Amino acid sequence: MENIYLDNNATTKVAPEVLEEMLPCLTGDYGNPSSIHRFGAKAGAKMKEARERVSAFLHCRESELVFTSCGTESNNLAIRGALEATPDKRHIVTTKVEHSSVLNVLHRMEKLGYALTILDVGEDGLLDLDNLRDALTSNTALVSIMHANNETGVLFPMEEIVNITKEHGVPLFVDAIQTVGKIPVDLSKLEIDLLAISGHKFHAPKGIGALYIRKGTRIRPMMLGGPQERNRRAGTENVAFIAGLARACELAEENFMRMETDVRRLRDKLEDGIAAAVPGAKRNGHKEKRLTNTSNFCFPVEGEAVLLMLDELGVYASSGSACASGALEPSHVLRAMNRSEKEALGAVRLTLSRCTTEKEIDFVLEKLPAIIEKLSAITPKVLPDFDLPDTKQAAE
Ligand code: PLP
Repeated sequence: MENIYLDNNATTKVAPEVLEEMLPCLTGDYGNPSSIHRFGAKAGAKMKEARERVSAFLHCRESELVFTSCGTESNNLAIRGALEATPDKRHIVTTKVEHSSVLNVLHRMEKLGYALTILDVGEDGLLDLDNLRDALTSNTALVSIMHANNETGVLFPMEEIVNITKEHGVPLFVDAIQTVGKIPVDLSKLEIDLLAISGHKFHAPKGIGALYIRKGTRIRPMMLGGPQERNRRAGTENVAFIAGLARACELAEENFMRMETDVRRLRDKLEDGIAAAVPGAKRNGHKEKRLTNTSNFCFPVEGEAVLLMLDELGVYASSGSACASGALEPSHVLRAMNRSEKEALGAVRLTLSRCTTEKEIDFVLEKLPAIIEKLSAITPKVLPDFDLPDTKQAAE
């Protein structure tokens, strides 16, 4: 069996059509799009055409797009740029389950004197929208909420969130890095002010992202230098990768139906198979309101050990745990969803793409139950916290 790649929320394979679109910009037509000679103008024209294609895909104006180097940069620019543009307001609202590229920026802003309201999610990963409504004040500068969660795939109800923020006249920034390219996102229908996307999540290469800035939304640039991107992001544009992003958008459009049907069917087959064959497996996230490619389970063993054993078989997945100061930290997303620390350390995320095949899913279903069984047999049975004697009291 070849490599089985089930880590598509981390990154995806570059589509051959994307590479084909990029290559001429790297070999023959490598001019600087800002140069005024014909060679530069050719690169400039390629970039203009690519911008038209990306904006058609998102249903927005070309002038509303700023190309960046990645999703993280888009998130940083959106948050810091929007806050700097409205210095009189000092309150931000977000959720507990955002990506670190949002949460870490917001915690920095908190250190700089901003008040931060971080909304809880329920056990299914969804928000209580009354809490969002209640959190907004006349001092709120920005609401920063993701579209879909990268670990569980849970989708937040964007239309309702837009309505609430509009009612209160608060700008809304959406990290749509896990949705754009997987499901249709129509910015002519959703009145979002700022929206971040990342190419490598949908078959463009790593190193290209974009920020949508709705016409009229105030933003201060973070990267200072030349006048590129209408003075909103300095630095020579990465023409080849922008062209690749445009092709990736078109391919995504052609494949939305496949994500909705074929990918969903394979994901559900994987989940049903795991639920039937792995005792104690708990699926994470709302059953319906989530991306069709994402599956996240807590197993009654260490998730990292499962990943290592899958890796030996050529199957690549991930856990939500992060390595912090030499120890494994359980996923903040699963902890927010009320999973215990021990449960969260047993998490494994399997994420499919349009390239995933039935044979690959069958292979995983054949091997995974035995892996969990083997690990269960060697996992020490630790008493749950509440059964441990209180050492302080025992000494007294
Ligand atoms: N936001 C979300 C929800 C993500 O899933 C990711 C990547 O995993 C990012 C932001 C960061 O994107 P990038 O890897 O392009 O910097």
